[in-house]
Amino acid sequence: MAKTLFLSVSEIRKLIESVGLQTLTALLAERIRGDFLRWQDFQKSPRMANHSAVGVIELMPVCDADRYAFKYVNGHPFNYKLDMPTVMGFGCLSEMATGWPLMLCEMTILTAVRTAATSAVAARALAKTSSRTMAMIGNGAQSEFQILAFHKLLGIRSAHLFDKDPRATDRLIRNLSGVSDLVLVPCESIVSAVEGCDIVTTSTADKALATILTAELVEPGMHLNAIGGDCPGKTELQPEILRMGKVFVEFAEQARIEGEIQQMDPDFPVTELWEVLTKSQPGRESDSEVTIFDSVGFSVEDFSTLSLIYDLATEGDFGVELDLVPEMTDVKDLYGLLMG
Ligand code: NAD
Repeated sequence: MAKTLFLSVSEIRKLIESVGLQTLTALLAERIRGDFLRWQDFQKSPRMANHSAVGVIELMPVCDADRYAFKYVNGHPFNYKLDMPTVMGFGCLSEMATGWPLMLCEMTILTAVRTAATSAVAARALAKTSSRTMAMIGNGAQSEFQILAFHKLLGIRSAHLFDKDPRATDRLIRNLSGVSDLVLVPCESIVSAVEGCDIVTTSTADKALATILTAELVEPGMHLNAIGGDCPGKTELQPEILRMGKVFVEFAEQARIEGEIQQMDPDFPVTELWEVLTKSQPGRESDSEVTIFDSVGFSVEDFSTLSLIYDLATEGDFGVELDLVPEMTDVKDLYGLLMG
């Protein structure tokens, strides 16, 4: 019988230290791209969200013929006041044939890696190939992962940084100061951060219909990677921006509930990223076009992540065996097992 593996935070840190964060991000980008290319193989649905006044808790299930995965994840922008992250997650990977849980895994760190890998997959398909400069608006937990992914996978050489909390920008600069060939430029406003950039990532957290980017800041040819607006009542882009160029989403049914396009009519035209990757729909068609990736995070990306981590963990002997399902000689005798 297969074992159930448990990948704790410390085991994931060990695995990432061994593989290397940049290599893991590249491997994951390849895995996500591969899974998006076989989009029809997945049973998909919008995630199930339970809201409170201050945040959301979500369950994200998905499967193909062989494996089932779900992630539990939250979004609580004010958690920092309680010394807790805004986004926390864990996930499970199981066998479809039997329902056997193969792995339970931390996904707070892995969500940041997978979101950065997905952003890079989208930007490689949608941004100008000559892109070298990005703006990072919101310098919280996701930000270093985003910048490193764009640096490694798109060749970004300079990142303009802005956060309403200057301590967040200081931390980001400290954390990435050793990365060669990467210039980090702290900026005093969103306007100065965005000016002249090829790619703009917005990764702010506030449960509000916020206007982080306004239409007059968007320049011809820009690629917008809007990851922070990801639940009802939580947006970052002024609606006018969504009419300035083509809008790309992960899964339209979920994005219409949670993404920037929640601000638009229900039939507002969007293209799903898999359609661009399989070349069934056009992506960017000129260097002057504006492209907008309205990302909310989709279960297939977590499926790709859990599958890759499971493969790396079993090859590399990471994780501990978990006593999660009873092992019985007589599988009908659950009572006997309990009573010993
Ligand atoms: P975080 O709380 O660690 O960081 C958010 C940062 O945004 C903070 O430093 C805060 O000061 C800054 N900020 C808030 N409002 C701002 C404003 N008006 N202008 C400038 N900066 C502002 O959160 P995080 O983990 O980095 O996540 C960021 C956002 O991304 C969250 O909304 C989260 O839900 C979302 N997210 C999306 C995906 C996805 O797949 N699309 C994945 C992970 C996280």
